[in-house]
Amino acid sequence: MSMYDIIKRLVEKCDAPEPTPEERAEREQREAEAAETRRLEQEARKRRARERGWSLASATHPSDRGQSHGKDHIVLEAPLKVGRLEREPGDALCKPGDRFWGLYGIEREEIKPSWTCKRCLKMFDRYKGHLEEN
Ligand SMILES: [Zn+2]
Repeated sequence: MSMYDIIKRLVEKCDAPEPTPEERAEREQREAEAAETRRLEQEARKRRARERGWSLASATHPSDRGQSHGKDHIVLEAPLKVGRLEREPGDALCKPGDRFWGLYGIEREEIKPSWTCKRCLKMFDRYKGHLEEN
């Protein structure tokens, strides 16, 4: 292919027709549906978290993940008071939420022992019977 042909093709690509109003409406419809699906998934996730009494959060901001090895923490959905242990909703099992720089909810709902804070895991085993919604 000559340089002329390559340039000609590039120019043709740039001249691709503008989407028609119908195409644009269709794309907006698809985007709105995808946003609605995400919203519903998020709500379902929150409901399940309330029912079982906990969710997972990372002390590492989502945008930092990949560069750091932040562990997941098990975060309470309801107050927990057993003996000397007292936690508020939003606290991690291992320590109160205000002792973290931040806790960021994550989408995964499954506890993976190798990714989870050891102390949270230990406390989860001990207190899981108290976590479920009454
Ligand atoms: Zn923890």
